[in-house]
Amino acid sequence: MPRIKAETHGHSVYSDGRGSPSDIVNQAIKSGLGIIALTDHNTTRGLGELIEATKRAQNQGTNIIALPGVEVTTNKGHVGVYFPGREAGSPQLRWAEKAGEHNWRPSLVDVVKYTLDHNGVVVFNHPETPHIGSVRFDDIKRVAESLSDLQRRGAGIEVFSWMGQIIPGVSQREEQAHKVAADYGMREVAGTDYHRPPHVGSQQTIFEARNFTSEAILEAFYEGKVYPGEGRPMTLFDRAQIVSDLSIGFAQGLLASKS
Ligand SMILES: [Zn+2]
Ligand SMILES: [Zn+2]
Repeated sequence: MPRIKAETHGHSVYSDGRGSPSDIVNQAIKSGLGIIALTDHNTTRGLGELIEATKRAQNQGTNIIALPGVEVTTNKGHVGVYFPGREAGSPQLRWAEKAGEHNWRPSLVDVVKYTLDHNGVVVFNHPETPHIGSVRFDDIKRVAESLSDLQRRGAGIEVFSWMGQIIPGVSQREEQAHKVAADYGMREVAGTDYHRPPHVGSQQTIFEARNFTSEAILEAFYEGKVYPGEGRPMTLFDRAQIVSDLSIGFAQGLLASKS
């Protein structure tokens, strides 16, 4: 069973990131990843280019699959929504995009249930991490309790991310994330939450999938054959870049909330 390295979380120029989807795919290949997700905030605009770039690489003999996603801003915080194998304009991805747009905050439960009912996967991103729009553990538990055992197998908690690592209290949150995932039979994933191409693949999730297809990725997730993999240590330079990206995000948020 191949162990496929995945980047599950990050942003392009289509939301608050700095790279194009093609740059992101190139970096993923350089970093030896087999799965590359793009999860822009409440938009699917970069996904067409992401999928095209991975198809070009596949035609040249590289094993790389696009994992199309959206990071949806729900009423309780950010949730990563993925529809493996779907095209950018598919009704499922369009639904996820619509759910998050225009400051209309859809309910967390609705987003989670819609995704799981349509062959998707959800991940509670950077849980309980202050300042970055996170879902709290109590809300995750409440949602988990309303799901069937089968549905919970399509849900994951991001136990580790670079963005989360910047905000104090990391180890405590990580410990709680492990516990909630174990208590409710949910998956554990680690993603960078990259906002610049050089950061792609800095935190990884391993998928033990039968082959390099979207169906195999989805199956691996539901069968629990996913776990956090090796990351690379964050340098002081990385940290400075992330803090600067975050500060710009805060400033934009403040300006937006005043208008
Ligand atoms: Zn987020
Ligand atoms: Zn993010």
